[in-house]
Amino acid sequence: MTICDDVLEAIGNTPLIKLKRASEETGCTILGKAEFMNPGQSVKDRAAKYLVMDAIAEGKLERGGTIVDGTAGNTGIGLTMVGNALGMETVIVIPETQTQEKKDTLRNLGAQLVEVPAVPFKNPNNYVKIAGRIAAELAQTRPGGALFADQFDNRSNRRAHVETTGPEIFEQTGGKVDGFICAVGTGGTLAGTAEALRSRSDKVMIGIADPYGAALYSYYTSGELASEGNSISEGIGQGRITGNLEGLEVDLAYRIPDQEALDVNFRLLEEEGLNLGLSSGINVAGAIRMAREMGPGHVIVTMLCDPGTRYQSRLFNPQFLREKGLEVPDFLLRESEISI
Ligand code: PMP
Repeated sequence: MTICDDVLEAIGNTPLIKLKRASEETGCTILGKAEFMNPGQSVKDRAAKYLVMDAIAEGKLERGGTIVDGTAGNTGIGLTMVGNALGMETVIVIPETQTQEKKDTLRNLGAQLVEVPAVPFKNPNNYVKIAGRIAAELAQTRPGGALFADQFDNRSNRRAHVETTGPEIFEQTGGKVDGFICAVGTGGTLAGTAEALRSRSDKVMIGIADPYGAALYSYYTSGELASEGNSISEGIGQGRITGNLEGLEVDLAYRIPDQEALDVNFRLLEEEGLNLGLSSGINVAGAIRMAREMGPGHVIVTMLCDPGTRYQSRLFNPQFLREKGLEVPDFLLRESEISI
């Protein structure tokens, strides 16, 4: 099919890009799934489509209705894009700590944005809980209904990856995939892709790349949810076992420092032309560690979740990087050599 009927049909079927330096350094084939090529520019378009289409199929939402969720931005962008295409309003609750770029994108798409202080999940004023309350209130009055998309605990999110991401990776590699690894926000990508790959192959290894400040590295290595340190990454870093993570077993777990991920990001940009957000750097750094642990000759796939432009004011801002104790790459300080 060369013509998509609408923007929803343009979601998914993203290419796998060979990451040259990571592959050469490890003797493995490390492949990145180019999720930044989705129409909403992130992996979360897949979940957004499934969350909305399942709700419509279950009679929870109709044309003219309102979609509500708490998101770090990317799911909100996906939901608003899908909502616009289906004639629905969106209300997006976002922690105020997220980048201006994501907030601007959401407003430009037409979402009603509710910015709230970032507080932990157990606090009743956590952004996800506020979204749930807004949806319950709007459901009383809005024609067409109001849906709390509930991306963290609604398994439609995971199903998007069971039915699309996993099968795509298996087919694109001709079944020769030895490992899959990524970071976790809701866990939909990791758990769903793992489920699909494991049902097709009994040898595939599943890994998690966790940022500092998240509790899952500890959980999958010692059984205890515990975190240390912090991270400037956005959209990932989970402190609990979400509905989408339930039952997931991982073979390998790594905790990736921001500096290690950032070095990967800037190298991918300068040497391979890939401008990515920091969750992608954490994923590729995790894939490199997994390749070293598994040994040469393996095919390892990870996710390139979204573009660096979504974080321009932070990842490419020398002052921000210095404040966070991170190294400023030379190219950010280079003066133009051309004068006219
Ligand atoms: N990377 C980015 C940039 C994201 O926004 C998200 C989702 N919040 C993820 C990774 C993680 O995806 P998932 O929710 O499927 O775990």
